[in-house]
Amino acid sequence: MRRFRIFRLIGIGFGLSLLAFAPAQAEPLAKELFGGKKLPAATEPAVHGFYSKGCFSGGVAIAPDGPHWQAMRLSRNRRWGHPELVGLIERLSREAAQDGWPGLLVGDISQPRGGPMLSGHASHQIGLDADVWFTPMPDRRMSVAEREQVSAVSMLKEGTLHVDGRKWTPAHEAVLRRAANYSQVERILVHPGIKKKLCDTVRGGRSWLRKIRPFWGHHYHFHIRISCPDGSPNCKSQAAPPPGEGCDGSLAWWFTEEPWKPAEGPEKPKARDVMTMAALPNACRAVLNAPAPPSEAAVTVAGPGDLQQATSVRVKSADPSSLLLSLQPSEVPLPTPRPFQ
Ligand SMILES: [Zn+2]
Repeated sequence: MRRFRIFRLIGIGFGLSLLAFAPAQAEPLAKELFGGKKLPAATEPAVHGFYSKGCFSGGVAIAPDGPHWQAMRLSRNRRWGHPELVGLIERLSREAAQDGWPGLLVGDISQPRGGPMLSGHASHQIGLDADVWFTPMPDRRMSVAEREQVSAVSMLKEGTLHVDGRKWTPAHEAVLRRAANYSQVERILVHPGIKKKLCDTVRGGRSWLRKIRPFWGHHYHFHIRISCPDGSPNCKSQAAPPPGEGCDGSLAWWFTEEPWKPAEGPEKPKARDVMTMAALPNACRAVLNAPAPPSEAAVTVAGPGDLQQATSVRVKSADPSSLLLSLQPSEVPLPTPRPFQ
């Protein structure tokens, strides 16, 4: 026992001396820390920061299969969102089915605790963004392998900025209308060609077009963004979309050369490739270190009634004295600096 302790002390001393000489650039990137988390922070749901710079706790997962959805690219482990968003996806899948959309193919939502991703999106960091494929769900359950390999279908006519009329259906319009009409949904990002199609063809009430925002990409999937939920004072809101349908000059700009010109000057590194924890809200350190739920299943939503239960899973921080009693001496944690609040 005594010898063990001596070795530990030597080990600690060595570790400290390494820390003292560690160069500044050795600080890990936030994308590696958040990308390594398999389960959410099992604390109260709370969003910290902005869509492209933040994290969240209390996340729940959308199940790989639900009555009206199938989740895609399961290996990415990006089926996690704030309970309000996951509940909204479940509701959209159910209500869109009534409109004639056979079911949602759900793409990326967020990592279990959000944060920057190892690859892909700049946003999707706070559990309030979700991608839904423009490809309707097939009437059979796809295998895990198919969900990795199947490609989404672009809605555009090849080589143009315009929707292919043979691919676009009234059901595509209906699922977007249904999503845009939810009060929590703040904007839906689509390719400018899709926005134009809607501007040209939507009849009846058109106020929902305000939430349909043109953006690069997004012709294989649409991107639902909900606003900051209650109980998240640290969530940084995005400015509301400008008033009106957005079928004006701001849309015409997308059909000029300017938005598609390659950027001038030297290529800048992507934010996620330089972002350390210092760039994120301080609360994200606590999110990273918070306890995980007992299992993924405990915080997964597979149907309409599941959200409340999945959201109620909270791991209480153990009373420090009972924690010490239950640990073997070799597991007694070393004191660490007080975490940031
Ligand atoms: Zn997206």
